[in-house]
Amino acid sequence: MIDDKVKIRCPGCSRMFRERASRVRDGFQINCQNCSKLLTLNRDSEDPFIRRALKNAREVRAALEAVPATTRVDMSARSM
Ligand SMILES: [Zn+2]
Repeated sequence: MIDDKVKIRCPGCSRMFRERASRVRDGFQINCQNCSKLLTLNRDSEDPFIRRALKNAREVRAALEAVPATTRVDMSARSM
């Protein structure tokens, strides 16, 4: 199973939350789900958690693209 969400740490309140890897990319903006602070995810951010979130998202997208859509459907049908 591929987890398609990545963890993002809010630099404002230090809480972790999750967002879909397909949306998390360089320049992506999101409001913290805890304190509503607007975060901008930049690859060259000084925050190592933001850089890691972008790296993880890239890896998850690559992993998802490596699995053909039909295989994914078959796998989810089997697990039900
Ligand atoms: Zn926050």
